[in-house]
Formats: sequence, structure tokens, C-alpha cells
Amino acid sequence: MKKIVVKFGGSNLRQPQDIDRVVNVVQTYNRPLVLVVSAFYGITNALIGCVQAAKEGAGTKAALAESRNYTLTLRALKKEIVEANIQDAAHRERTEKALGERLDQLDRFLTGIHCIGDVPTFVNDAILSYGERLSSLLLTEVLLSRGIAAREALPEDIGLITDGVFGNSACDFEASTASVAKALEGNEVIVVPGFYGVDREGKTTLFGRGGSDYSAASIACCIGAESLDVWKDVDGFLSADPGTVTTPRSISQLNYLEAAELSYFGAKILHPRTVEPLFNQDIPIRILNITRPDRGLQPYTIINAQRKVTKDVVKSVTSTEDVAILKLHGPGVGFKPGILAQVTNTLDQNGINIKSVLTAQTAINILLARDHLDAAYAALKEHHLAGVVDVSRNDEVAIVAVVGDGVLEASDVGSAIASRALSAAIASGVRVTLAAAGASEVAAYMLVHQEDRKKALQAVHAEFFGG
Ligand code: ASP
Ligand code: MG
Repeated sequence: MKKIVVKFGGSNLRQPQDIDRVVNVVQTYNRPLVLVVSAFYGITNALIGCVQAAKEGAGTKAALAESRNYTLTLRALKKEIVEANIQDAAHRERTEKALGERLDQLDRFLTGIHCIGDVPTFVNDAILSYGERLSSLLLTEVLLSRGIAAREALPEDIGLITDGVFGNSACDFEASTASVAKALEGNEVIVVPGFYGVDREGKTTLFGRGGSDYSAASIACCIGAESLDVWKDVDGFLSADPGTVTTPRSISQLNYLEAAELSYFGAKILHPRTVEPLFNQDIPIRILNITRPDRGLQPYTIINAQRKVTKDVVKSVTSTEDVAILKLHGPGVGFKPGILAQVTNTLDQNGINIKSVLTAQTAINILLARDHLDAAYAALKEHHLAGVVDVSRNDEVAIVAVVGDGVLEASDVGSAIASRALSAAIASGVRVTLAAAGASEVAAYMLVHQEDRKKALQAVHAEFFGG
């Protein structure tokens, strides 16, 4: 029988009592599973804070004390969770001891960076993985204490090998598939910490923020899973962010491309690269809501290969402020060969990823992640590109995108979609900086003034889904 890979994220793990809901879900499946878990809510951010504090105060007693304090806080938190969830005293003690050993390893890394006064990237990745390493150990022990056959499996032990890029790695499927599949055989519930894999030397490399989704997808791909079930605390993918639009609709089905574009353009529900490994094997992703036990194992959203153009074409409107525009000005930049090649080369050498490029005769617009803007600006200023008379930057923008299969179809409905979105935004007074359609078959987007992001999202959502 094929296994199901089940992922629980930080939103499922906020309070000590939340573990109960997770155990209930595992019992409801009543079959062999691979669980992939994130850190408890907020832990990764706190670890990032710890590393940052260590960097800034490198070597000082105050900074060392601060990170010691943090591991003490973690110890107390874990103790509280163990006490709330494991009844048997001896089992409790064993679990606390095992967690303590793991926290000692974390302590050693933190002390190390104080001693050398620097945080090498491989140490950074190792430290940040501890949130997940604590979750997997804890959950395994709680499952065992409830009489459920379970074991923990760490990425380094099962051979989840990556391309070795610290902070933002990808799974190396050629190197991983056979060993991961073999290591995850068996009928017990197997618990894997998400967020990281290891390079060929065994060093921890992270899959990027929110990367546990990608871990789970990679594992599902390696073992040829029946499905990847992602548990959330919301009703699946929605037609818009519920914080901005009052009554967004839940979306029952999306194809892989739509889900990828929605995540790319700001929907926070899945890591943007989650669908990548599943695409080829046609493994469905099912999004379920842990706060709705009445629904059992019935998902809110299923993501698969089916391409359905719905009557209204647009399935969701999304937005993100993680974007900035770098603009190269020059009377003939659109016409001059080779400029773009130099630009992309320079940015690539500086490790900067380009989100999109839109050119005209007198300007080249490069869209970037916001925290890459200053480095990109400095690199291009320094490079002096022939034909470019000025470089400017703008980070007061946001992207608003409409996503749905058929958005760009040459039919009347399809081609009208992008212009309807644009007109709706402009009619409600939104300052639109740029608009683009055609880069993806299922998405069209516009850049608006950052202050107008909410207004734009509401206007465009109302246009397709009613006020
Ligand atoms: N804990 C990691 C993060 O906060 C990974 C994850 O949650 O998926 O980014
Ligand atoms: Mg997450």
C-alpha cells in the first residue's frame, strides 16, 4: 500500500495542548504514515533572533548570556509540553533527557559562534534546524506514549540529500530517492523534522523559510506517496487573504501551476516550491484544516494536474509586498544588444534572483525580492553599463496578481481578465505602476503603490467575486 505523507506546520503547533489534535489526526488516518513536522510556532524566528544577537554582540558576555537564556526558555517550554502530553513518569523523564541532549547540541553551536565571533553559513543552518529537531523528537515520544507505534527519522539518517546551497537548498532526487524510500519503509508512523536536508558531506542545509512544506513534498516524491496532506488552521486556499477581504471563498481544486503561481505571488499557505517535486509524478496535495475535526479527512483544497477553466476564470487574487523595482534608464536600452546579459550576469554573481524583467525602449525594469534591492542597486551602479545613464530603485510597491487557468487564453473571456483587473483597480483610485500578462499561462499581475495594496486587492476581488 502506498503511504501518505502528512505535514503539520507551526500553525498546528502553538500550545502544548495542540499536540492532542495532531495525535487525533494521526489516529483518524489509522494507517502507516510519514509525518513531516515544523518547529513550534515562533521558534524559528526566535532562533534567527539568537543568531542575530550573537553576530551583533559577538564575544560579549551579554550576548552569550542572551543565547543561554534562550535555550533555557526552550528547555522550560519543552518541559511544559512533555508534562502536558506524557503521563508515564519514567517515559517523561526519558523524553526530557533526550530533548535535553538535543538542546545541549544547540547550546554548543551558539557558544561556538560567540567564541569565533562569526556565524558561518553552515552553522547558521544547523542552528535554525533545531526548532524542527525538537518537534520531531517530542511528537514521536508523545505518539509512543499513546500506544502508537512510531519512530523518528532524521534527514541525515535517511539520506535526504540536497544540492548543498546553504539557506535555500533544493533536494537532489538522484542522490536521495532510493535511500529515503528504503529508510521510510515499515508500518509504524515515521516522524521526520522538516525544513532541512544534508549536503553530501552531511552538513545541514535549509530549504528556505517555510521550507517544511518542501521537505514533505520531496519525501512524498522519493517514496511515491499516495498524497501529500498539509494540515493548516484555515479552510485551504482562499480567493483572497481573509485579513484584507471580508468573505473570501474557499477553492476546492487548483492545478499545480495555479498553486505555484499563487504561492509565488504571495499566498502564504504553501512554500512556493512545494509543487515542484510532485508535478511529474502527479501526486496530489490535499489541504486540510485541523480546527475542523468534524470534516475528518476531507480536504478543503486539492491540488493536482487537472486543468479546469472555471466559468469565472479567476480562482484567486493575491498580493505581496516582497517586491521592488530596479530601473535602468537610457535612451536606447531597449534596443541595444547585450545590456540584459550583463545585468543578469552581474546580479547572478551577487547571488541575486530576478523575479521578472519588463523592458521598453528607454528603460529596463527588473523586479526583485525587496531585501535584494540595495545590493542589486550597488552592484549595477558599480558596474557602469554602457548605454545606461541612470539607475533608480523603488521599494514602495506591491504586486497584485489574478490567478486562474485561462487568464491568458486568447478567447474573449481570457483576454478580458487582465484588463478587467486593471480597470477595477484604476477605477477605485489605485496608483498602478506597471502591469504584465503573458509570463505565465495562469497568472497576470500589476504593480501598485504599496499604500494602495489593500484597496487594489479589494477592488480586484470584488470585480470577480462580487462585493
Ligand atoms: N520553521 C521553519 C520556518 O519558520 C520552516 C517551516 O515552518 O516550514 O521557516
Ligand atoms: Mg510553514
